[in-house]
Amino acid sequence: MTIRALIWHEHRHEKKNKLVADLYPQGMHGALKKAFDGEKDISVDHALLDDPEHGLQVDRLAKTDVLLWWGHVAHGEVKDEIVERVVKRVWEGMGLIVLHSGHFSKPFKRLMGTPCALRWREAGENERIWILNRNHPIAHGLPEQIVIEHEEMYGEPFSIPEPEETLMISWFEGGEVFRSGCAWRRGAGKIFYFRPGHEAYPTYYNPQVLRVIRNATRWAYNPAPAWTSVDDAPNVPHDKAPVPLEVKGPKLHEHGEAGYR
Ligand code: ZN
Repeated sequence: MTIRALIWHEHRHEKKNKLVADLYPQGMHGALKKAFDGEKDISVDHALLDDPEHGLQVDRLAKTDVLLWWGHVAHGEVKDEIVERVVKRVWEGMGLIVLHSGHFSKPFKRLMGTPCALRWREAGENERIWILNRNHPIAHGLPEQIVIEHEEMYGEPFSIPEPEETLMISWFEGGEVFRSGCAWRRGAGKIFYFRPGHEAYPTYYNPQVLRVIRNATRWAYNPAPAWTSVDDAPNVPHDKAPVPLEVKGPKLHEHGEAGYR
């Protein structure tokens, strides 16, 4: 069984900013792909914002097991129709790994249902990521902390719904802390938010950061067939109930009608 991973990247900073272009000559998606080098159970491809349908055609998403998302400056350019497509696939069971500034991406905000805001500072600070659950599959092969020499600060309060599990907490040199590794389930899909990855620093060359991304991809993979009817809301009439029953009292709806949305 091969896990089909797809890295989605807006790929804008590399085209406009020499610093980022020099740091990531193959694009940040090129560096992220290296996380999967030599991993025989994972195939990886990439999709870019400027591709037709942002590279997220219906049939391509149907063949994607885990989608990784990096966006920043162009969140607003992602078409709402494509966002709904991604959200539906997560509900059906596709895994989603949201990286760094993807906290403000449309799919993540839509799936969380909260502002997903945070405080931030670009000062090349030291980041110390503490791993809280070392037995979790995402922490496999990692030390108790990951130290990144230079990173952008993200600080609490991070306005997300309470994670089903907080796996990592970051400490920054300037004093702030942040929930850096957070897991949720939405429908049949698993979601993991992983904080590091500011475009001005070489974070996606850090082997421990890439290991988290690789582990998270395996964790988010759901081998079950897509739950394509996840958005259906069928009316089950009394005579079709698992245990047949008599109708009691008044009723508003017609027998077997579809109901309202
Ligand atoms: Zn950033």
